[in-house]
Amino acid sequence: MPAPDLIIRGQRVVLPETIAPRSVHIREERIVFVGDYDDVDSGCEIVDAGEESVVMPGLVDTHVHINAPGRTEWEGFRSATLAAAAGGVTTLVDMPLNSIPPTTTLAGFKTKLETARDDCFVDVGFWGGVVPGNTGELAPMFAAGVVGFKCFLVPSGVDEFEYVTETHLREAMPELTRLGALLIVHAELPGSIKTSSDHVADYRSFLDSRPCVAENEAVELMIRLSREFDTRVHIVHLSSAEAIPALREAQAAGVKITAETCPHYLHFAAEEVPEGATEFKCCPPIRERDNREELWGGLKDGTIDLIVSDHSPCPGEMKLRESGDFMKAWGGIASLQLRLPVVWTEARRRGFSLLDVTRWLCANPASQVSLAPQKGSIAVGGHADLVIWNPDEQFTVTPSTLHHRHKLTPYRGEALSGVVQQTFLRGRKITNAPFGEILLR
Ligand SMILES: [Zn+2]
Repeated sequence: MPAPDLIIRGQRVVLPETIAPRSVHIREERIVFVGDYDDVDSGCEIVDAGEESVVMPGLVDTHVHINAPGRTEWEGFRSATLAAAAGGVTTLVDMPLNSIPPTTTLAGFKTKLETARDDCFVDVGFWGGVVPGNTGELAPMFAAGVVGFKCFLVPSGVDEFEYVTETHLREAMPELTRLGALLIVHAELPGSIKTSSDHVADYRSFLDSRPCVAENEAVELMIRLSREFDTRVHIVHLSSAEAIPALREAQAAGVKITAETCPHYLHFAAEEVPEGATEFKCCPPIRERDNREELWGGLKDGTIDLIVSDHSPCPGEMKLRESGDFMKAWGGIASLQLRLPVVWTEARRRGFSLLDVTRWLCANPASQVSLAPQKGSIAVGGHADLVIWNPDEQFTVTPSTLHHRHKLTPYRGEALSGVVQQTFLRGRKITNAPFGEILLR
């Protein structure tokens, strides 16, 4: 076997089935051998994670809004991918909306690719969008390399990305099935969502305006349509735990439907959101403590199989923190850099292991977008995407340490466990040069 270029080793290397002392041998960007800890007599460079830190697959985050081009002042590829690397993320997938143009046409996708090129510190893939009237664009976008398609069942928050109704889905879903493409869905239906021009600073009133039933009914609709059209469907950012039994039953019956949730739904609770604290606003909303524990139950039994950030930044002033108006503030929480410590802090508290966390943050998101086993696990033949971090070290979130373009965050002051030390992309430590690649399906 040719000599490796680099060996990364540690006492706690997270493999798919076990955590053990191992040496990970890397050559030409890939893992070529996983040996015992001492299996390193090659004379090549060795990075040792030591006794306390773990070596884990680089995180895969398939739900990130980068907003470029067109709204680059909201985030942008440089700042987002730098934040990703600082958080141990080596692969992310950009959402098709909030950029102008949105990724809903082949031309829009090409513009996106030109914008991202040369500006990525981690590897980046792209979702396309399903909007009314763009069925003819789906095949060209899929052939050009988007990993799948997203739609909204409620207004998305931006005019250029319109939501779809069942009628639109009945046109798009047969085409998605024909392509073998995954449809990811923002699952809230408008019928039971209350809109109001009143000033609402009380979180309870905002929460009541976006009840569980809006999500539950949307999930039921998508189960029915997935069954009818045999389309692979994935529910993004599930917040209502009431929808879990229907998902579990559908999955057991063979319906091709999966679901994700997000760190903020697993960490915060509605009862603790202060008056006017619009940095906590996202849609669907953060719900009550009991609901949060049921989401953890959904992860435990596998009904929910991945946790992604839904990193959805905007300029601080759009959060209207001064007036504290939950109805008018932009809905979205930026957490790309914090997903690992937030999830680990909460998972450990509930008795989950690093193997569980690795499945939710790395392997399952990679599988969702057909990047496994190249991404998301420490396995021979895969990309040498690795993060070294200390799961026992604690820190307090200070906005100035975040690489997100805008620093307003509900995590400010939170004490978390898990400090990222080094992130490696395809065998190279990520420093100050962006060598991330564009990932086309
Ligand atoms: Zn989103």
